[in-house]
Amino acid sequence: MASVVVIIEGSVCAWGEMNEAHGDEAIPEIIRSLVAFTNAHLSMSAANGLLILGYGVDTSKQVIFDSRSSVKGNVVFDTSRAVIQGIREILEHGLNVEDSTAHSSLAPALAHGLCYLNTCTTLSEALPTNSIATTETKASKDNRVLIVSMRDEIVTEHSQLMNLFFTANKYGYCVDVVALDNPSPLLQQAADITGGLCLRVSKPDELLKALMTHILCPTSLRTSFSSPPEGTVDYRAACICHNRLVNQAWICSVCLAIMCQFMPICKVCKAVFPLPPQKPKKRPSTAAGGLAKKKPMLK
Ligand SMILES: [Zn+2]
Ligand SMILES: [Zn+2]
Repeated sequence: MASVVVIIEGSVCAWGEMNEAHGDEAIPEIIRSLVAFTNAHLSMSAANGLLILGYGVDTSKQVIFDSRSSVKGNVVFDTSRAVIQGIREILEHGLNVEDSTAHSSLAPALAHGLCYLNTCTTLSEALPTNSIATTETKASKDNRVLIVSMRDEIVTEHSQLMNLFFTANKYGYCVDVVALDNPSPLLQQAADITGGLCLRVSKPDELLKALMTHILCPTSLRTSFSSPPEGTVDYRAACICHNRLVNQAWICSVCLAIMCQFMPICKVCKAVFPLPPQKPKKRPSTAAGGLAKKKPMLK
């Protein structure tokens, strides 16, 4: 039994940019690839679990497909209708959001996905030891998350996401990332921390090949296949004030928020900090007495 959580970018701007950059066939191609991949995962074993989530500017509509709730007397192995309908609803909802500065929020969707995987793991461990599913239970370590991203922007939830990545690593869930643009440094770090893969797909028609070749096989079997070339991971953190990658920064001692410049009050936890000590001002060279060098007189 292996459960997979697929988290799909639901930003209207991202989908629009895909259409503009790659033509009208880009969006149907992406949806076809996602449907083929998720159906393939469900078809590999009747015990496999699947949860498809979308992350957009509003998290009220997250769940696109849940293999547990779909089984009501009939086993559903086709996600096509749910994926098309779910993505359409998320994009339509994003169009109606009036706040133009709102960003897609990945952290709630990822937290939801990790809770789902934890539930699947707990349920599989609770099965009786003489059950037929015992051999499949061992495969629950293959539970994983796949994030399909389309923008390289740095998401604003740096500390929340880092906490979730370390939680995923602690529980043994790997986070794979497939980026249809340059992957965000934060998502590169997610794959690196959790032992997942971070793939960059330059065209939508290469998405299915990347998913089926590298992501579909369980994590325990990946060493048997050729792995994609690994790039360098940008481990710089983003400041909370400007959302900019920084090499050196001020860090709040209470909530670990990162600030590129000194702030007397932390924006996140409202902790108050004393002003840093001021450097003593240099005296002018004329007032330094005998220490000032005299210029040689020219004749
Ligand atoms: Zn800043
Ligand atoms: Zn703070």
